[in-house]
Amino acid sequence: MSKINILDYTKEELSYIIKPSFRAKQIYEWIYKKYVNSFDEMKNLPNNLRDDLEKNYHMNPLKISTIEQSSDGSKKYLFLLKDGKTVESVLLPMKKEAYDDMGKLIHHTRFTICISSQVGCKIGCSFCLTGKSGFLRNLTSGEITSQVLMIKKDNDIAENRRVNIVFMGMGEPLDNIENVQKAVKIFSDPFGLSISPRRQTISTSGLSTQIKKLGNMNLGILLAISLHAVDDVLREKLMPINRAYNIESIIKAVKEFPVDARKKMMFEYLVIKDLNDNIKSAKKLVKLLDGIKAKVNLIFFNPHEGSDYQRPIVKDVLAFQDYLLKHGVICTIRESKGLDISAACGQLKDTQEKK
Ligand code: SAH
Ligand code: SF4
Repeated sequence: MSKINILDYTKEELSYIIKPSFRAKQIYEWIYKKYVNSFDEMKNLPNNLRDDLEKNYHMNPLKISTIEQSSDGSKKYLFLLKDGKTVESVLLPMKKEAYDDMGKLIHHTRFTICISSQVGCKIGCSFCLTGKSGFLRNLTSGEITSQVLMIKKDNDIAENRRVNIVFMGMGEPLDNIENVQKAVKIFSDPFGLSISPRRQTISTSGLSTQIKKLGNMNLGILLAISLHAVDDVLREKLMPINRAYNIESIIKAVKEFPVDARKKMMFEYLVIKDLNDNIKSAKKLVKLLDGIKAKVNLIFFNPHEGSDYQRPIVKDVLAFQDYLLKHGVICTIRESKGLDISAACGQLKDTQEKK
């Protein structure tokens, strides 16, 4: 019988399975705080329990397959799953850095880790490499959380260092909502990775009914909507899912979504040359977002082999941003991190498979 991935269990689930139940907390601390790699290292567990765990469970669902380091500090991981499939994640060190008295860099003060929720994706957006490669399977909750755990270990990021999680790697998180919900719980658990839900952002292509379901789960996470277009005709061309869930249905679902009073709803807008980079679209976007505490994140389309679209001109993106800002909509431009290392989702996997 194959062993079960112990990382797939929330602490509550584990406390039902392992008795006495306080053992679940101990096991959690060994895995998520002390970063051990084997049950044998869990010194405060009795021998027979350790043997039992060893016989029935494993805690290493992922293996690092390749790492690409970018000159801007971001690092892209390709992980090998137990069944031979691969997914990718990215570590993005944020700007603020700390220096010691000698001026030596001690550490970056903040990290964002971008994780995958599925192998491939069913949604099939025409600009996205992951979408083009089709859907293979959902990741389990342990395969999702393990991406963060492995990256923290590999970079010696202390367990108490603050990290942000974004579900913006491969896959559509709301198409795997049950496992994503469990992953959020494991991330948030004070005995687990201890990452506040307010530091976790779920990005979705806009499955309106699932947005509603996620809202009802009241996880306290932040939501990002991949909008990319302001009219249904263009959005359908970019994202076929728009036929099932049009812009109006997304905006309605967003308005009902519980957002922390201090936070905003994020809208991602992939800017593509000559398609959606004009001021007319910016105007329409301002109208669409009326009444929503929104923040828009403009993303430069990153061309890949065989893509029909082009990277926009910087001047047009800046003009788009300027229009939004002047009309009271907070708008940032996503830094094109890791452009030299196959930046957008699905691209590292693609280059590796072609080798
Ligand atoms: N499926 C979810 C989350 C993962 S997609 C969603 O679509 O929101 C991850 C992000 O990568 C999305 O914001 C998407 O717009 C972006 N992306 C995909 N292909 C890209 C490309 N070629 N250039 C730039 N960003 C891209
Ligand atoms: Fe899937 Fe997101 Fe890529 Fe669309 S952009 S195909 S939803 S991963």
